[in-house]
Amino acid sequence: MQVTFLGTSSGVPTRARNVSSVAVRLPQRSELWLFDCGEATQHQFLRSELRISQLRRIFITHMHGDHIFGLPGLLASLGLAGNCGGIDIYGPDPLRDYLESILRTSSTRIGYPLRTHRVHTAASSGIVLLDDKEFVVTCALLSHRIPAYAYRIDQKPRMGTFNIAKARELGISPGPIYADLKAGHEIILADGRIIKGSTLCGPQKPGYSFVYCTDTVFTESAINLARGADLLIHESTFAHSETEMAYQRQHSTTIMAAQTAAEAKVGQLVLTHLSPRYAHGNTLTPADLLNEAKAIFPSTFLAKDFLSFEIIPKVSSSSDL
Ligand SMILES: [Zn+2]
Ligand SMILES: [Zn+2]
Repeated sequence: MQVTFLGTSSGVPTRARNVSSVAVRLPQRSELWLFDCGEATQHQFLRSELRISQLRRIFITHMHGDHIFGLPGLLASLGLAGNCGGIDIYGPDPLRDYLESILRTSSTRIGYPLRTHRVHTAASSGIVLLDDKEFVVTCALLSHRIPAYAYRIDQKPRMGTFNIAKARELGISPGPIYADLKAGHEIILADGRIIKGSTLCGPQKPGYSFVYCTDTVFTESAINLARGADLLIHESTFAHSETEMAYQRQHSTTIMAAQTAAEAKVGQLVLTHLSPRYAHGNTLTPADLLNEAKAIFPSTFLAKDFLSFEIIPKVSSSSDL
């Protein structure tokens, strides 16, 4: 799973940081999933290595403008490109009304299947939104001025390495049958022998997990959703000295983000959604925010626009969880 930040500022863009958006590239699928779509996200796509034509799903955390003003333009451009196979969008009310009215009043014809899925839950432990062959997506309600949801992707455990030598020893010649065996399926050979693919594969490899958590003040539901994840991307709008303002505006400080990561025992934390007040040249800078969080959770990194990296699997033991 490759993560690319397309926008890392809160509220308004700055010269260095656009408003919220994160793209996740799924392994073996040539597919992109987008989390939030602040204004000019499609411009950020053009300046990145990512291909907008690979976009398949969009997850919207909440209906504040800095997370959704880029949607209509991006969806319209996908239509004009003419090669979009369809988009599924997930988000809270009034996402569907917002999109329908803006597309209608601007006479925008989309021309591809656009499916909106309403996210609505009060469960603090998270509910399953999507469950396919390889991935499960869950979400949980955060604590913000309006309903806001955190999302988690879990890649299911993958089959271990296929032992070709063992397959040959059993007299199975290479061919399409290998794909079935690699997938762990049971097959019947021409001579009547039944072979279980899983017996020719090494131990299962654990999948990766990713959690995107914004906008919110410190909340138990974020800890519950993020528990044991390889990567937690968490908002950190304010420095610790602005804790009072963070509570007033229902946003997180560096310390709240780090405490969430520490209590959830995640592998890595990345801070994003930084207030423009910490732009370089001001008294406090993003580097100060990073140091505050690292004092509590050392494996913390700072997001910046176009930062792109592969998720590293967390070295975990069952006692971690
Ligand atoms: Zn925001
Ligand atoms: Zn917000």
